[in-house]
Amino acid sequence: MNFQEKIRNVPDFPQQGIQFKDITTLLKDGPAFRLAIDMLAKPYKGKHIDVVVGPEARGFAIGAPVAYILGSGFVPIRKPGKLPAETLKYEYSLEYGKDALEIHKDAIEPGCQVLIVDDLLATGGTTMATIKMIEQLGGKVTGLAFLIELSFLNGREVLAGYDVTSLVQY
Ligand code: AMP
Repeated sequence: MNFQEKIRNVPDFPQQGIQFKDITTLLKDGPAFRLAIDMLAKPYKGKHIDVVVGPEARGFAIGAPVAYILGSGFVPIRKPGKLPAETLKYEYSLEYGKDALEIHKDAIEPGCQVLIVDDLLATGGTTMATIKMIEQLGGKVTGLAFLIELSFLNGREVLAGYDVTSLVQY
């Protein structure tokens, strides 16, 4: 399947100069969505993954079905102020602007094996922030799986030393 054909490119969103990769066009296509999730999960089948961690909001749509396939739990990463219980907060920079993320402090048990899943790897800032939070809570990041990788932004270099997989590269 040609996943690139299923992903809509929206120029200048959310700001001038950004080529936004809109995955809603892939998500609404049943066979494409199923195949993408199956292919993302495949390299981690048989590896022991306790939890999949997915950042808000597209990381939920991709991460939760991957967790279901692997028989793992799912842990959400959210924008500040959204998670109800005690959180750990981390500030980071995006391809467009700055942001902060939170995780529930009790979501990751020490020694827990984690797979991080998100829709897109750009600069790697979001993923690095996620890794820092998981490791601070004593978790072990076993892998990083993305639907899309913007290779020209060199996110892989930021994430050197971690196992990165992606389905579609630009
Ligand atoms: P980064 O932290 O720079 O790797 O950015 C990754 C996060 O920002 C992901 O959660 C994406 O959803 C979002 N993102 C960054 N750049 C784009 C883009 N060009 N198109 C769609 N989403 C993007």
